[in-house]
Parts: sequence; structure tokens; C-alpha cells
Amino acid sequence: MFAKTGDEAALMVSKLPPDVNLEEQVGFESTFTSADADPDTFRPQVTGIQEGSDVRFRVQVVREGQVEYEHEFEAVFGMLPEDEKPAYRGAKHLRLVSNARPPELVPFPEIAQYDDEYLEEQTILVKLGDTIRATVLVDGNVADSTTLPVGRPASENGLKAIRIGYINFIELPGLSPSLPPQPETTVDRINEDWAQVAIRFDLAGASTIDPVANVITVKNRAGTASADGTASVTVAPGQGTPTPVMINIFAGDTEEQIAQRLASEISNTVPGVTAQHYPHRTQNEDFWFVLVDKGNNVTFSNISSDPADVFIQPPALNYRDEDKIDFLAGNVLGLNFKDDDARTIDMFAVPNGALPGAYGRAGHDEHQFTLPGWQNTILIIESAVNGNDASNPLTAGHEVGHVLFDGPFDGSDPASPGHSPDPQNLMSVGSQGGELEDFREGKRLTNEQNEDARTDSATPTPVPLLHQTGHNE
Ligand SMILES: [Zn+2]
Repeated sequence: MFAKTGDEAALMVSKLPPDVNLEEQVGFESTFTSADADPDTFRPQVTGIQEGSDVRFRVQVVREGQVEYEHEFEAVFGMLPEDEKPAYRGAKHLRLVSNARPPELVPFPEIAQYDDEYLEEQTILVKLGDTIRATVLVDGNVADSTTLPVGRPASENGLKAIRIGYINFIELPGLSPSLPPQPETTVDRINEDWAQVAIRFDLAGASTIDPVANVITVKNRAGTASADGTASVTVAPGQGTPTPVMINIFAGDTEEQIAQRLASEISNTVPGVTAQHYPHRTQNEDFWFVLVDKGNNVTFSNISSDPADVFIQPPALNYRDEDKIDFLAGNVLGLNFKDDDARTIDMFAVPNGALPGAYGRAGHDEHQFTLPGWQNTILIIESAVNGNDASNPLTAGHEVGHVLFDGPFDGSDPASPGHSPDPQNLMSVGSQGGELEDFREGKRLTNEQNEDARTDSATPTPVPLLHQTGHNE
């Protein structure tokens, strides 16, 4: 019933909730050809065995040489419709799932039902790269056996070939010490969500940082300087001597030109310090800023500029829970602490409540030119990454979707770009706030989403985030 060679020779984790179109027992013919049948649900079949034989199918999941699952199924006899040949088929359909009850349950999940708990032996828990082995037993003796992988090997091509993303996990200070972030559990959880489309993630690194203030903004409401003039500022790096810096301003200079001149003058004048200029463009904000001495605090004083329409000033940057993290703080955070590998998704764990009205916020490739610190960056609240199954277990997988899909995808809701109108989809708005990983929750993906992620984020896109080798391979 499945291709045994080529790009299609693989079993896939089902994209349906396990209770949809999965009957407990079926005859030789089944109604499984209906419109909403799952192309990834399967059952073993063997031909060339006489009617009246004692036939059973043993199905196993093999992971790194170990049998993780094993069950024997009864078989039903019939004639194949296409050529009237006698055949046996398994009496139950089987569905691969990727989401299981976590080892620690606090406190809601006692009432949750996980994907592999629905019709138990028919919903088989797997990970990408496992092997499914089906063995035919006739009168208790092994008659034949076949294997298929879960997803094609990463070295291959096609929608079923495994692709790998890297997550760099960064914690801000002030997170709860009683339920601290769990980078590995978070990545495992993202992998459970994304196994449906043969995408897995590796943890590329985990660190804790202290946010810094080291930027000055350059603003001009009119867009360009109205006259010639000068700007000056005294720059004091954390451990360094305060150094005065002065630049010329020319009539008609844009914010970008002034920021660029200021950055290069700081780099030239202040010993041991490099400065760079960046844009900051949101719906309501549009200016440039200069970031000095990446990763370190810098004090700016004695600031003056002339003509008066050019404003140069250090902005307020808030990272504590009660202060909220706005787009500029996120932009500065990302530029200071994203890792240097553009192929990595950087995930910052922030205090609960630090993202007004959101559990997470994600930027993608497009932000390179508007909010560069947000490019392929996720800010996520701590309760979504602390491994506690009673708080936002699907948020991290959802935010990763925003990054991989580069915003809207086929079938996304025009009223909420980047989100799915299907409440059971991982990209539904509700999936972020869900408290359970119950099988009914919003965590499904579609073939279109699989294709979209691979089109937008696999090689050779401008910023490839999906790879054929893992971070440590
Ligand atoms: Zn979202």
C-alpha cells in the first residue's frame, strides 16, 4: 500500500487528530477511502497466502536498535479489488503520532488525553528517523517482513525527507527559580509538534544574558536635516574612558546618513569600541540608531545636535517584567545577543507579562530591513518554556512556525496574517494560550505548511533555517 523506493518510501506522522476517521476495527474492505481519509494512516497487507491460514501481523517501532513498541494484530482475508488475488490485511488501521504524556505532570494534564492514548495500540508513538517493521506470522512462524522509515533520511529530497533546524536558547535574568526554563524539554516539545512535516530541531546552545543599554537613536521628523550643523556626544564604554565624539551634519542628510557617520566616527575615535547603525521600522516608528560595543553597557552624555530638527538621544530600554519589552528593546536585545550564525533561530525566554497581550513574538527574514534584531528571533514568556504542561505547551512550536513560514502561508487567515483559521492547526491563534497538549488542541500542520516551510526556509533561500545535517553532525 506504500511505495517501497524513492522519495515517497516513508511513513509519516499523521496530520489529523487521532480520533478523526480512525475506526477501531475494519473488514477487508473499509470506508477508509472517504474524502477526509488520512493518507498517512496505514495497515499491513500480504498476498499469496491461502484462505483459512492463521495469519497475524507483528508491528514494531525500532529506535537506535531498540524496540520501542510492539503489538500483534489479527488479519482479515479478502480478494484484492484490482486483480482478484487473495490477500490478508491487518484488522486495524494504524496511525503514527508524535505527542506523548510528559514524564512530569503538573497539574492539569491528569485530565488531558495525549495522541498516543486514543485507541492505544492503533496510535503509535514515534520520532523522526525511527523504523517501522511489519512482520507476517503464519501459524506463529515468521513468513515475511518489511520495514519503512519514519520520514526519509535527511540526506534525501522531497517533502518527506527530514529537515533540521537549530535553536539557540537565551534566558533573560529574573525568571522563576522554582520552575526554571528547560531548553531541552522545549526543543523536544517543538519536535513533537513538527514531526508531522518531517522537521526536527537541535538545541544549538543555551545561555543566560544580562540585557544592556548601548544605543542612541537618530530621529528627524522632517526626514532630512534642514541645515548644516554638528552633533556631539561623549561615549563611555563600561570599563573605558569617556571619549567625546563630534560629527558634521549637512543640510539634506537623512537619519541613516547621520547614524552611519556617527557610528563610523565612534569606531574611529573611541579606543577598543566598534559601533554600527541599524534601522528601526514598525507601524508607528521609523528611525535609525547606533549600537556601540555589542553586548556591553555604554553611557552617553553631553549630547547636543544642531540643526534643532535632528534629535540624538539614548532611548529608555526596559526588560523587567513590569516594564514590558517593546519593539525597540527587542530589536536592541536581538542585535546584542543573537548568535553569529544566521542559520539559527534565536529564542529568548523573558519574564511572564513582559510581552503585552502575547505569549510569544517572532520575527522572520523580512525583518532584516526593518527590525534586524528581530530577524528569525523569538521572544517567549517563561511559562511557555519551563516544561510545565499546565502552561502554554504549544506556544514555542507556534512561534517557530512564524519564523519558518516567513509570515503568512497558504491558507492563512487574511484577518490575522500568519495564523490559521482552523482551531486545530498549530498556527491557530488559540494554540498559544492552550494549557494542555490534549489531542484535540491546536497542534496540527498541513501539507501546504510543510511545502511553505521548505520553500521559505530550506536551502537555498536567502537565510536558510532548515538543513540536511544537525548542528553537531
Ligand atoms: Zn502567532
